[in-house]
Amino acid sequence: MRTYLDHNATTPVRPDVIEAVAHAMRLTGNASSVHADGQAALRLVETARRQVGKALCARAEDVIFTSCGTEALNLALHSAIRAGGAGRILHSAIEHEAVADTAKASGLPVEEIPVTAAGLADLGWLEDRLGHWDPARDGRPVLALMLANNEIGTIQPVAEAAALVREHDGLVVVDAIQAVGKIAVDFAGLGADYMAISAHKFGGPQGVGALIAACNAPLERQLRGGGQEKGRRSGTLNVAGIAGLGLAIEQAVAGLDDFARLADWRDAMAAGLKQAAPDIHIPGEGAPRLPNTLGIAVPGWKGETQVMALDLAGFSVSAGSACSSGKAHGSKIGNATGLDADASRGFLRVSLGWNSTADQADAFVKAWSEAHGRARPEHSNALKAVS
Ligand code: PLP
Repeated sequence: MRTYLDHNATTPVRPDVIEAVAHAMRLTGNASSVHADGQAALRLVETARRQVGKALCARAEDVIFTSCGTEALNLALHSAIRAGGAGRILHSAIEHEAVADTAKASGLPVEEIPVTAAGLADLGWLEDRLGHWDPARDGRPVLALMLANNEIGTIQPVAEAAALVREHDGLVVVDAIQAVGKIAVDFAGLGADYMAISAHKFGGPQGVGALIAACNAPLERQLRGGGQEKGRRSGTLNVAGIAGLGLAIEQAVAGLDDFARLADWRDAMAAGLKQAAPDIHIPGEGAPRLPNTLGIAVPGWKGETQVMALDLAGFSVSAGSACSSGKAHGSKIGNATGLDADASRGFLRVSLGWNSTADQADAFVKAWSEAHGRARPEHSNALKAVS
């Protein structure tokens, strides 16, 4: 039997959500059709829109359904630049490629906000940079910042950063993709113009997401066509996926108190791993973090090799974000938080979720400690740790 500890890559779909998706797939109807079948599909979509708004302290009418989180982030940045007239992009050094690559491709000047050794965007740097912002030279700023980091789970100071950027008439794009369903997210309270979410990170289906765009946020559609989503995002709606997203976000937010308890297992895992490998690094430890996410860095034992060893032992974990695995340059967060290259290449992410158990967390520590003992016997307390 396998143990899935890679919830930040994608989550198992909640059983009720599978039922809701299957129910929606049994209906025939395009949500844009005026006949009764179409209107039945539309009702599912509008229910999901309300569920998203309620879960995130946002207005339902500000929710635009997309095909994934990446599309939502692309739409937000495209809108900020094309309709908002942004002149320069500021994003943290640990943003997901959906932000970093889109910013780079925009052709605008891009500045990276460094992160502290604790894995948090450096607000002091941002304040200083904005202190000598020259609108004539720099244009309108657009800030893109993740609410929670995908690799180590650090919760970024988004509201504070947004307030600083707002003083300069800036626009704010928040990548809340890893945060939703893991901590409470308040769109209105963050002071953001745009916020992206993705269903498969909170127990919903893959391939469906949403952008929340404040009513006064500049918006320019990226996909042209039939004018769905009030002209903001063309394309026939994924009714079943959207229905699943709506129920998943409702259930995930209702379960936040239970989810918070995962922090105890995360910390117990960290303690067990440290006991087995005294020279392990835990980037972000001590900073505000998602309860489910544990990033570790082990000098001299590559993350990819750890993933393979654990895979053989029946555990699914990852060497960083799912989309960057396989790249040999070490973890983004490891490099950005100042770990040396060797430790950064030894990065591993373990992420728990709604159906994880304490036994799985214990079993992981045991399996990792044994594999570590074989790979780095000279640095290992494995025998003591697992006896
Ligand atoms: N942003 C973050 C922080 C993520 O972790 C991910 C997915 O791994 C994405 C964006 C992309 O989301 P999607 O897979 O829905 O395109």
